[in-house]
Amino acid sequence: MTRLIFLGPPGAGKGTQAKMLSEDCGVPHISTGDILRAAVAEGSELGKKAENYMSAGELVPDELILDLIRERLHQPDAQAGWILDGFPRNVPQAEFLSKLLEQISQPVDFVINLDVADEVIVARLLNRGRQDDEESVIRNRLEVYRAQTEPLIEFYRSRQQLVSVDGSQTLETVRASLQQVISG
Ligand code: ADP
Repeated sequence: MTRLIFLGPPGAGKGTQAKMLSEDCGVPHISTGDILRAAVAEGSELGKKAENYMSAGELVPDELILDLIRERLHQPDAQAGWILDGFPRNVPQAEFLSKLLEQISQPVDFVINLDVADEVIVARLLNRGRQDDEESVIRNRLEVYRAQTEPLIEFYRSRQQLVSVDGSQTLETVRASLQQVISG
């Protein structure tokens, strides 16, 4: 049983590492960014509502995300564990998640903070070339991260759930560090 939350700035490698680890552990990788991008591509109601926030590098409103996470964590494949990537992203989302996990009796094992310096982040994201990876949007996503998501490091540290991993190392070294963390 593996239940993990990945925290870290955009470009820290959360998505890549969370995906590999979810395959290793045989649990779903739940990325709110991926879910939202799929909704935008589909042109669904959710996608239409989320699109403008995403292309500006802002968070989409909590009301679009909270129901989505509740439903996702109730799916059959999520009963054996999960890796959350991109959620929670602010304190209200983290409080919502703590309550939800208590209700469904699914405690989180660890919250992994992938730590990466700003210069490395901007360089990586400019290289990635996703639609919301234009420099001004990247800078805004970083500001949003600092203001809204970074406080979660303290939130989870004070609950003794936080583990920090140096995300500026090579992909393989980060992967090995993560495997060490989850194997205790
Ligand atoms: P990155 O890790 O590169 O910032 P994500 O794929 O996690 O990118 O998210 C892309 C965009 O999707 C965010 O900039 C934001 O607009 C939206 N998003 C993803 N997850 C959330 C969330 N939990 N709450 C609000 N907005 C979100």
